[in-house]
This record gives sequence, structure tokens and C-alpha cells, in this order.
Amino acid sequence: MSRFLSTKHFGITPYEPGEQPGEKAYIKLNTNESPYPPSPQVLEAVAEEIGRLQLYPDPAYTRLRESLAAPFGLQAENVIAGNGSDEILHFAFLAFADEEKSLAFPRITYGFYPVFAGLYRLPYVQIPLRKDFGLEAKDYIGLGKTIVIANPNAPTGLALSLKEIEQILLSNPANVVIVDEAYVDFGTQSAACLIPRYDNLLVVQTFSKSRSLAGARLGFGLGHKQLIEDLNRIRCSVNPYNLSRMSVAAALAALRDQDYHARNCREIIQTRTYCAEVLAQMHFHLTKSQANFLFARSPQIGGEQLYSRLKQRGILVRHFAQAEISDFVRISVGTREQMQVFLHTVQDILEGGKE
Ligand SMILES: *Cc1c(COP(=O)(O)O)cnc(C)c1O
Repeated sequence: MSRFLSTKHFGITPYEPGEQPGEKAYIKLNTNESPYPPSPQVLEAVAEEIGRLQLYPDPAYTRLRESLAAPFGLQAENVIAGNGSDEILHFAFLAFADEEKSLAFPRITYGFYPVFAGLYRLPYVQIPLRKDFGLEAKDYIGLGKTIVIANPNAPTGLALSLKEIEQILLSNPANVVIVDEAYVDFGTQSAACLIPRYDNLLVVQTFSKSRSLAGARLGFGLGHKQLIEDLNRIRCSVNPYNLSRMSVAAALAALRDQDYHARNCREIIQTRTYCAEVLAQMHFHLTKSQANFLFARSPQIGGEQLYSRLKQRGILVRHFAQAEISDFVRISVGTREQMQVFLHTVQDILEGGKE
């Protein structure tokens, strides 16, 4: 810390991302990226865009917003795009929370929510999950706070039904409900269809998980026109050129190659089912994950130990120190081949095999 840092930042705890290894070639199952490269169409579109990098991008990125809106039956005015969905969440915390509109989110969820709240000193409550790690929708009914729900939730992979989301929206009409759908493409229904009926709903999605573009940093928010205007008020006060030309080109091309996206999602879901079965045979306890990761605990080995044994053998998974979930590891679903290596390695570790 330098002697120049504003005292108001002394107390903040920054977000701790999963490891991004440098040289060593790990099988990387720790940050829920797609194991598949971007569509060939993305490579082409980005290569072409490079020749235009001397020009600023369109700060309204109208074409991108139209392409994002169309599949949901929405208009460009219902869409804001961001440098990763983290940026959209950042804008939303700034726009829709303060001393009066305090925040509520689950106690176990995406670790960035308390970080944003901490940075801006926004009051928040963390609502415990049920014992089975499910989210209790009742706890959010008529809460009168700005609610943030990852659906499916991370790192549990469990989701609320559309009906439960709707009850939360309906019973909190004076507050924004942010539904973070980073994992929606792996088998759950988006709440975006509720947008025409609820002006307090903000749905946030990303290209990082299902669309193989974590490195491009591309996320978006969907909501009522006025909600999006509020977010743009923040965006244009922070960084109106928040997307690079290359990211916009990559996103447009990814949206055009719908078949590639659908195929990869199907493949991930199949591999997830297969791995869950094999882990269950090895006596792991798993949540019924609807995301591109598994959340699993072995009665034979602690979470941290399993994480480090796997790391020694070149496989990265994620372990969280939080007491309620410290027995678990979160395993991103990779390719079939990667997962076979993973499962064999786990088996070997459990059997006490040496390196
Ligand atoms: C990965 C993730 C994000 C962030 O995604 P980016 O678009 O890469 O910023 C947001 N929310 C949840 C729940 C996530 O898991």
C-alpha cells in the first residue's frame, strides 16, 4: 500500500480469481471456462476486425445489442453489453443499491457480490442456503431489498424454477432483482421471458462459460428499457467504450454460429452426467448441478487435500475455504478426454496411489 491510497479503501478485500497457471500445462478444471476453442467463425471475424483497430468502437454497439435481444424477443433498448458480466454486475450494484436499498444475496454464492458491496460500502445481508445447498425461495419473498441471485447458483450448481423467480419479482416490486445467469445454457430456463411483465428484473448473462469467450470479456444485461438506461448512465460515466472492437466482432460471430454453441452445450451436459455417475460410484456426494461444473465431496478425503493432490498431478480444480463448503471441490466439466484423466487420477488418489 502506498501512502497515497485513500483511507476509504483501507478495508476492502479484492476478489480472488481462480488460478490462471502460467507455463505449466495443467488440465484446467478450475474456472468454468469452456474446454472448446471459439467457433472458427470467431477467429475469422476477429482477424478481419484487427485492420480497423485505429478506430474507436461504436459506443452504443447497436448491432450487437440487436443480435443479443432477438433470441429473447426483446429490442436493442432492452440490452446493455459489458466487459464481462462482472462489469454489468458492477454497474448494477452502483445503480440499484445504497443505504436505503440494501442488498441481499445467498451466503454461499458468487464471491464477487460481497466484493462489489464492500468497495462501495453498500449494506448487505447474506441469506443462508438450506442444508442441501438449495436456495430457499421463501427467504426472498417480500424482502424489500435489492436481490442478487445466481441461477444456477455457484458453486453449488442448483437452480430455482422460473416460477420461484417470478414470485420473488412479484413480491419485491420496489426493488431490482438481479438474476445472474452465467450458467443458464447448461440446462435451465432463462428468466428473460419475464422482462416484459416485470420492470424490476435484470437478467445478466455471459459469453465466458458456454460460448468459449472468457478471454474476450463479454457479458450482457437484459431488462426493462428504463433499467437499461440507468445502467448506461453509469456505464457512460465510467467507460463508454467498454467493449473492444475485437470483443464485439467475436461476440457477433459467436452468436451467428448457433449450431456450434448448441453442440458444445449438449456435449458438456452429457459429460457432466457421465462424470457425476462415475464420482457417485466412487462414493462422492454431489449436488445435482445444472451448470458446467460439479460440486462434490468425498467421505474419504477433504476438499483441500483433494485439490492439492490433484494439483500435484497436473489437474486444477477449485477449492473454497469457506467453512460450510470446505469439504467440497468444484470441478469444471472439460472435454470427455480431460474428464477421463481426471476420474482416473481421483480413483488413484483414493486408492492411495503414489505419483
Ligand atoms: C463466471 C461468472 C461470472 C463472471 O463472468 P464474466 O462474464 O467472465 O465476467 C458472473 N457470475 C457468475 C455466477 C459466474 O460464475
